[in-house]
Amino acid sequence: MHKGLIVQKFGGSSVANVERIQNVAKRVVAYRRQGYDMVVVVSALGDTTDELVKLADQINAEPSEREMDMLLSTGEQISVALLAMAIHKLGLEAISFTGSQVGIITDTSHTRARIIKINVDKIKEELAKGKIVIVAGFQGVTLNQDITTLGRGGSDLTAVALAKELGADECEIYTDVEGIYTTDPRIESAARKLEAVTYDEMLEMASLGAQVMQARSIEVAKKFNVPIHVRSSFSDKTGTMIIKEVKRMEDVVVSGVTLNKSEAKITVCNVPDRPGAAAKIFKELSEAGVSVDMIVQNVSHLRQTDISFTVSKANLPRAAKLTQKIAKKINAGDVLQDEFIARISIVGVGMKSHPGVAAAMFDTLARHKINIEMISTSDISISCIIQKRFAETAVRSLHGKFGLAK
Ligand code: ASP
Ligand code: MG
Repeated sequence: MHKGLIVQKFGGSSVANVERIQNVAKRVVAYRRQGYDMVVVVSALGDTTDELVKLADQINAEPSEREMDMLLSTGEQISVALLAMAIHKLGLEAISFTGSQVGIITDTSHTRARIIKINVDKIKEELAKGKIVIVAGFQGVTLNQDITTLGRGGSDLTAVALAKELGADECEIYTDVEGIYTTDPRIESAARKLEAVTYDEMLEMASLGAQVMQARSIEVAKKFNVPIHVRSSFSDKTGTMIIKEVKRMEDVVVSGVTLNKSEAKITVCNVPDRPGAAAKIFKELSEAGVSVDMIVQNVSHLRQTDISFTVSKANLPRAAKLTQKIAKKINAGDVLQDEFIARISIVGVGMKSHPGVAAAMFDTLARHKINIEMISTSDISISCIIQKRFAETAVRSLHGKFGLAK
């Protein structure tokens, strides 16, 4: 009996050891036995990808990106073969493929390649024979036959793209948490699993620091309206649906609170207040490949102003050095840096129709004597930069304030 097609993706932690691989095999087989056609996408075992990155770094601190892809793609190749063997052992037919074998064609931007097209003929052929098809996540191939990878966390993208291309009935992303939470349960034990979030909310959460799914995969899901079910590979509980629109019973303004500690702040003091100063700073930074996130320019006194911005901590040494150089050139003053900051954000589509959300956020932080150093907003989110030592207090108080607790 043919029931439909399911794409399932298992992340690194779900296949971290032999027992877990066997568990994944059991789950896949159970679905197959119910009559579903199964396409399974797998990530590299546990921390394999990180270990390969470290290994490369010991050989060459600036490895060629092409060779990096050659190296990292091996992680997923191990997983697919082992999972196929585990399924065989349970008595079902399964066949594994690399990204290149199933025709995931990408552009040539190694380490962050974009999918151009997918030829699903081969997958369909094998499904028609009754086989479970297992595809290596995170990888593709250029028209020149060079192996590429899709950016860290890219197995999510492989799964979503295959679900779209195959017209799958369901796309399930299995991970080590039970779904998307109102905030990190390790910080706030009253955090709640959300039944559903919209693509836009998930995109904000992903880019603001909730590391459940790769942001690019959500963009693709949104573009083609692929519903995603994020759930745990360690239980049978329903997880969180990521969909276009969520009908919420109550008037929910804020859906989640996120925390990001991976940024640092740079401040250029006494920038001459004339046209072109900011342009000069950010143009040179972008030319050096430093991406800048939040930017704040203060009011100018005596025709001078301070400009602050955030960069990723990894980029801080380089960005600070470069900014000092630019500051000199434009006759600005000191360049200060602060790596002890955190970004705390509230996210929710409900914000669009509710005034006073920002005021409530600022008031909550003020009550806890937390100073706000920078603010930025989007349609459905408000972020504040605060000192890192207040981060957890801020998460808990905002989570309570907006009624997110259990
Ligand atoms: N193994 C790759 C990574 O760790 C891809 C993935 O896990 O989705 O980034
Ligand atoms: Mg991974």
